[in-house]
This record gives sequence, C-alpha cells and structure tokens, in this order.
Amino acid sequence: MIHDTASRCTLCDRLVLGLAGHDWTVLPWMVESGSGALPGPCHVTCLADRECASAWAESVEAYHCKRWPLWLAGVDAGVRWRLHSSRSARQFHLWRSDGRLSSFPYDVLHGGPVSLTTDLAEIGTAHAATLLAAMGTDADGVRVPLAYVITALDLHDRYPRLTGTVTRDLRGDGLDAADVVTARHPLPLPPACRRAADRLMRTPW
Ligand SMILES: [Zn+2]
Repeated sequence: MIHDTASRCTLCDRLVLGLAGHDWTVLPWMVESGSGALPGPCHVTCLADRECASAWAESVEAYHCKRWPLWLAGVDAGVRWRLHSSRSARQFHLWRSDGRLSSFPYDVLHGGPVSLTTDLAEIGTAHAATLLAAMGTDADGVRVPLAYVITALDLHDRYPRLTGTVTRDLRGDGLDAADVVTARHPLPLPPACRRAADRLMRTPW
C-alpha cells in the first residue's frame, strides 16, 4: 500500500517537503493559544514571518530536555542551540531557539560537511508525480539541483539558499525494493555544535 505523503503548510497552503531544519509538523500540544502556529505541517520560514518561531521553539524546549536528557548547549550568532543525544538510537536531536529543529543519525558526522538524505515521496503517489514534474525527469539516478526543484515548485522563498540534489532512487529488490524520490542536502552545523556532537559520541556517559 502506498501512502501519499504530500502535505501542505497550515500557514501558506504550499507544499511542505520534509527537509530537516526547514519545516516541521506542529503537534497540538506545541501550540500555545495566540502563538500564531497551527497544528500540522508548516515551513519554519512561515513561523518566522509571523514572529512565532521562537515562541514555538520555546514550547518544545522542555519536551526535548525531558525526552533526551543528555545534551550539550551553546550559542551561535545569537541563536541558542542544544544538541540532544539519543545513544540507544544513535541519533541527535538539535533544538534551536529560532525554530530550525532537526534530527539526524550519528552516522552522518563521519568525515566532511554534514549531509542528510531524506525520502520525499514514494513513486506512485501524486506527490512523487509532482516532484518528478518539477525535476523535469523521471529517470532513475539523475541528480537534479534541489534549488531548481524548489523554484519549479514555487517554494524558493520558503526554502531559501538550499543547496543539494533531488534524485529518483531505485533501491534494493524483492520485498525490500523502494522506488522513491530522495533529497540530499547539507545541514549546516556551527563549529561548536559539531565539536559537541563529537564529544557526545565519544564520551561513555
Ligand atoms: Zn508555509
């Protein structure tokens, strides 16, 4: 069974792609009355436009601290951040006071700049068809610049200055086969945050 994963922003009614640090699904308990945020998927830029991104980030701060009590924190260009570590899942959860939250596995921190791979849609869904049309190709393995696809979807002001690529990716075979549209994009981490990640991975807490 194929689930159609297309979602629209509760604030601007345009597509939400599911890119870490750029959009989020706001859960009902995260919404304080009068904050301007609505439950559902939304662009962080839309929250920022309504000046409620930081209020929303504050409303999930306590949750992060309770759920992942192992963390290191810092400040980068006026933005407070806290890197939470989930050792059992080998996963980081980055909380930021500007609302650009993200989660990423330990594995992406090996080597050079951090790059995330995100499955955007499963081939066969209407959302995948929309993405393939924006890419201008449905051929397997062709890397189309993410900025090109975002512009074609009229989302360039919601996902500004994004580098990376979008690819139709045929993986595996048999029951494990997946034919998906995938984005590969960098996740900029402040140097201190990067050092914190190395420390969290190394230290036997
Ligand atoms: Zn939006």
